[in-house]
Amino acid sequence: MKKKWVYAFTEGDGKDKKLLGGKGANLCEMTQIGLNVPPGFVITTEACLYFLDSAAHEMPDEVMGQVREHMLQVEQATGKGFGDAENPLLVSVRSGSAMSMPGMMDTILNLGLNSRTLEGEIAQTGDARFGYDAYRRFIQLFGKVAMGMPDEMFDEEFEIVKQDARVTEDVGLSAANLEEVCDRFLQVFQTHTGRPFPEDPYEQLELSIKAVFNSWMGRRAVDYRREFNITPAMANGTAVNVCTMVFGNRGNDSATGVAFTRNPGTGENRLYGEYLVNAQGEDVVAGIRTPKAIDKMDQEMPEMARQLAELRNRLEAHYQEIQDFEFTIERGTLYCLQTRNGKMNAPAMVRTSVEMVGEGLIDREQALLRINPDHLEQMLYPQLDRNVRAHPVAQGLPASPGAAVGQAVFDADRAEHLGRVLGMKVILVREETKPEDIHGFFAAQGILTSRGGKTSHAAVVARGMGKPCVAGAEGIHVDVQKREAYVSGQLIREGDVITIDGSNGNVYFGEIPTVEPEFSRELNTLLQWADEIAYLRVMANADTPEDAARALKFGARGIGLCRTERMFNAVDRLPLVIEMIVAETTEQRQQALDRLLPIQRSDFRKLFETMSPLPVTIRLLDPPIHEFLPGEEQLKDDIEKLEHLKDSVQGLDVLNGALALLSAEKGTSEAKIPQLVDTGLIEEALKTKALMLRKVRDLTEVNPMLGHRGVRLGITYPEIYRMQIQAILEAEAECAAKGIEVHPQMMVPQVCTAAELKWVREYVDEIKTGVERKTGQQLNCRFGTMIEVVRACMRAGSLANQADFFSFGTNDLTQATFSFSREDAENKFLPMYNQNEILRDNPFEVLDEKGVGRLMQLAMQWGREVKPDLSIGICGEHGGHPASIDFCQRAGLNYVSCSAPRVPVARLAAAHAFLNNR
Ligand code: ADP
Ligand code: MG
Ligand code: MG
Repeated sequence: MKKKWVYAFTEGDGKDKKLLGGKGANLCEMTQIGLNVPPGFVITTEACLYFLDSAAHEMPDEVMGQVREHMLQVEQATGKGFGDAENPLLVSVRSGSAMSMPGMMDTILNLGLNSRTLEGEIAQTGDARFGYDAYRRFIQLFGKVAMGMPDEMFDEEFEIVKQDARVTEDVGLSAANLEEVCDRFLQVFQTHTGRPFPEDPYEQLELSIKAVFNSWMGRRAVDYRREFNITPAMANGTAVNVCTMVFGNRGNDSATGVAFTRNPGTGENRLYGEYLVNAQGEDVVAGIRTPKAIDKMDQEMPEMARQLAELRNRLEAHYQEIQDFEFTIERGTLYCLQTRNGKMNAPAMVRTSVEMVGEGLIDREQALLRINPDHLEQMLYPQLDRNVRAHPVAQGLPASPGAAVGQAVFDADRAEHLGRVLGMKVILVREETKPEDIHGFFAAQGILTSRGGKTSHAAVVARGMGKPCVAGAEGIHVDVQKREAYVSGQLIREGDVITIDGSNGNVYFGEIPTVEPEFSRELNTLLQWADEIAYLRVMANADTPEDAARALKFGARGIGLCRTERMFNAVDRLPLVIEMIVAETTEQRQQALDRLLPIQRSDFRKLFETMSPLPVTIRLLDPPIHEFLPGEEQLKDDIEKLEHLKDSVQGLDVLNGALALLSAEKGTSEAKIPQLVDTGLIEEALKTKALMLRKVRDLTEVNPMLGHRGVRLGITYPEIYRMQIQAILEAEAECAAKGIEVHPQMMVPQVCTAAELKWVREYVDEIKTGVERKTGQQLNCRFGTMIEVVRACMRAGSLANQADFFSFGTNDLTQATFSFSREDAENKFLPMYNQNEILRDNPFEVLDEKGVGRLMQLAMQWGREVKPDLSIGICGEHGGHPASIDFCQRAGLNYVSCSAPRVPVARLAAAHAFLNNR
């Protein structure tokens, strides 16, 4: 059998968008379900690829033959003849690939017109003006699309005629005027192409088909595909649709328009769109006349409005999806020219999902699957008001989504003072941030840095807190001392208002209004369905009771990671923590810890109470302790300043001595400069700073991330872990005494051998017995380990003997697996690796299934061989990313934990993961 290159709308498979393009497939589908589509046929994308691949850009031999056969069918269906001078058939030639690429490729209308058929068309319609208007449109489109002529060539001629006729609007032109336009157009065509305008309709058609095929490789289309990452696997080549022309410009009973079956901005269940009476389709798009809202059609053409409503219902019922469609009404008959799934914003997607289930149009699974989890993010953060136009002054990386407005401040202390103490809205602007800036984060609306990537300290911490962050905005230079900064060469001072948009990385001067997100009723409903369907449990990373409350609001079913060091960083604790660190003896350290204990206990109790009865997982202290101390440079600087101050104060004493002498000589009363500070105080401060400096130097490590941290710290300074364990268990006991149901879990970071775990477990057992005896409460706190070093994966079997649960820390595990330090990797070589596809993705963003994932699978297998009911989760940043969540489902994890604002995304992704892997 010879190859089939052409399909009639009545026979093409409406599901086969690869072959027929989206537009073509839907024209077939609509025809076959009985909607009124003008007759026509589709030339396949295969023909396009053949054409583009062939050296001389030849179409397969049989194509034009098959086109002729199908044209015959169209002639029969319409009762007209292609090229027939009496009763001419006119067609449009339209492109359409598997992915919609709006406006990227071209359409030719009114094809089939020539000097002879034009006469027939005029005779048929009895409307010369209409005939010439159709002809001049065709000549211009054909010249442009098939011959590559610029529009301006035609526009100039058109203007001349308009001026001669003294009209300003196209509609003012008479038939004779338009006839002159046609003559001029034909002339321009001939001058430019060196050949007369083709009279033979089949020649017109063949040239047009080839032109559409060529437009696939046109600059616009190629750029578009690159911009939107449309790969050949998604769309390869364009189909050509040949479709009988229908005319919306045949009088006041004709019209044309575009519509969405529901409002794509809000999801409201009401036809949404625009139309123009007595106009061609392109006029709506071109904005030559202002179209009317579709609501108005009811008054203007009630019968058509009724038919349109019916069309809308049939489209939705069939596609079970919101449709974006084009229609034309020719003398009281409604035709549908195109349909596709409507693109909507996230709130509209959510609302329509829930409402379509209510209407029985789709089921819950379809409702969940039609929404891309990542798009939900739009709904969960404040957004810049889209009605306000503004130009960004700088751009960085979109490091943590959402928009924030505030006064610029350049160091954390000032941020805290202005933000927390004075209650102002501030944006913390730094070249980069460090852990000791954390109090500034708490006080700020958002964070802006000029260095560092999406996983820089600023980015990670801001995401964890759900605060907007723009990172790595080059061209920002901060002078902390002067309290000013230069942004792209312009000066901003502390207190100047700026706006940042962490969703796209833009930075603006001044205040741009923002709109608050709303957690709509529909979103709640949808996410409840997701929870019912999902297997993976979604928990949140939350460090404080406030974080926990927010996590609950976002629907977290527990806390999968509470980083206790975040509690240590709060202003009222940090001095105690520093005291603990600089302690010279175990007793001194114990004293500091004794004062920290009640504070931690109450932190934990509040967390447990907030989350009751859901589980709360607390990680024992993880980072190297020097992180709580200021940096060496800072300390040296402080000491220097104190020394100067001491000198100055001593200088004052000298001055006072001299003044006393002088006044005695002159016999005047003694003038004395009051003493500013007691030198004793300065001495004391100096001593403390010197001690801290010594400690900082003692604690300096070549590679702190692989150094004295995590469980290593817990074993070498047992008092620290023991204090934390006691605080957790006493908090549990306090809750139990109040009859509050709590499920605490503690986990140990950085474990590499079961012996470490056993060591810490012994503290737990001993302290637990003590607390139980003292309080009379029975405690159930579970004990688990993080799996974040490679050896822990290899020893998972023996770790399982000591643990009730595993929690993969995939951030550290990824670093350890690749031997990449994340900051360095992302700032230096990873972008180049990604660009050259040495690594396809950034493994810190997309979980590396083949390496890290494989290790996880081994660890899970060995762990569960020992303990079949071992509960296993993930608490790295990957826990909130849909692709990683899909992996977690496939691998058989029990839970994922992510930052609070990612929780809704993860809930939907967990449902997708279950449904897609059934
Ligand atoms: P796009 O892919 O850019 O939407 P289309 O192929 O849909 O291009 O064509 C552009 C415009 O031309 C449409 O708005 C439609 O109204 C009009 N059009 C295309 N084919 C016909 C036809 N057979 N009859 C009437 N108008 C048509
Ligand atoms: Mg279209
Ligand atoms: Mg870790």
